[in-house]
Amino acid sequence: MSASKSSSSPVLDGASLDDLLQSFVGQASGPAVRGQDPVNVPMIRHWVEAMDDHNPVYVDDQAARDAGYAGIIAPPTMLQAWIMRGLRASQESDRARADGQAGGDSPSDQLMAALDDAGFTSVVATNCDQHYERPLVLGDRISVTSLVEAVSPEKTTGLGVGHFITNRLDFTDQHGEPVATMRFRILKFRPPDKAAPVSEATEQPARPKRPRPSLTQDNQFFFEGTKEGKLLIQRCSNCGTLRHPPRPACPNCRSFDWDTVKASGRGTIYSYVVNHHPKVPAFDYPLVVALVELEEGTRLVANVSGIDPGIVVIGTAVQARFETFDDELTLPVFHPVDGSDVDTARPATDPEGAH
Ligand SMILES: [Zn+2]
Repeated sequence: MSASKSSSSPVLDGASLDDLLQSFVGQASGPAVRGQDPVNVPMIRHWVEAMDDHNPVYVDDQAARDAGYAGIIAPPTMLQAWIMRGLRASQESDRARADGQAGGDSPSDQLMAALDDAGFTSVVATNCDQHYERPLVLGDRISVTSLVEAVSPEKTTGLGVGHFITNRLDFTDQHGEPVATMRFRILKFRPPDKAAPVSEATEQPARPKRPRPSLTQDNQFFFEGTKEGKLLIQRCSNCGTLRHPPRPACPNCRSFDWDTVKASGRGTIYSYVVNHHPKVPAFDYPLVVALVELEEGTRLVANVSGIDPGIVVIGTAVQARFETFDDELTLPVFHPVDGSDVDTARPATDPEGAH
């Protein structure tokens, strides 16, 4: 959807920009595409299983006939699946774009480039409407053409000032008859000024607090424990099974009776992600978010600090420390156990430390 092409067009005033934008209306927004495969049962089966859709008319010929169809029909919302180019073609065009060899000259690309040049460099999809003429049946060969249907005047939105672009995709069958229409709308907008609000007293950007956990009678003990520097695990007082995240009943014996046990804070990285975007102002990035397996056996999600985000290794031994983010929030943050870090299971005292 995004175009990286930039041109050397002169800066346009509002009126001439609107004229330019309107000149794209009615033009093709992409090449005509013919589906690689006819409508078929295997693709439908994968879809309904992925979507957990149990409507039998999609996979059972008799059920479809009983429902008044001539045979199996495809789920209407599979519409786009029939014209997908597949992974290989997508990878090839991604590579071409990265090499600066993108086609980039379609009217839609030029429209996006014109908006980029005018400062509307951010994009977000806003809505997608599909209209179906008839159910698709096995053997249908679907093709699609697309055009720029509308470009709005400049609008002020919660995200910023921008223009809505509506692309219309017309789906046809092997006879050229229309089977469906899809309108896909995006907002191409000017990103807000990145400058953060500045406090007059310190001239430091105001840093919002971390999001609050949603406290319930089941999980409150956990966050009260972290305030005291204790990592608590819920334990069934009937059978002794440990469980996390906290919940009302024991998954082993179904008892509602529980107490807690204090964990050592030692564990290993069971899995992880490194979050780069989007950047939430309360956090520092890259942000290592790990699923830590505690030596007691339960796992919890927490940040890992003191580790190179580029070389996080599953299985790394870690130790919890407690970091106080504000008056209300103290959380365990895990640090790798190696060399000098081994004996540092204590409240973090360095507010400048990575977290
Ligand atoms: Zn139990």
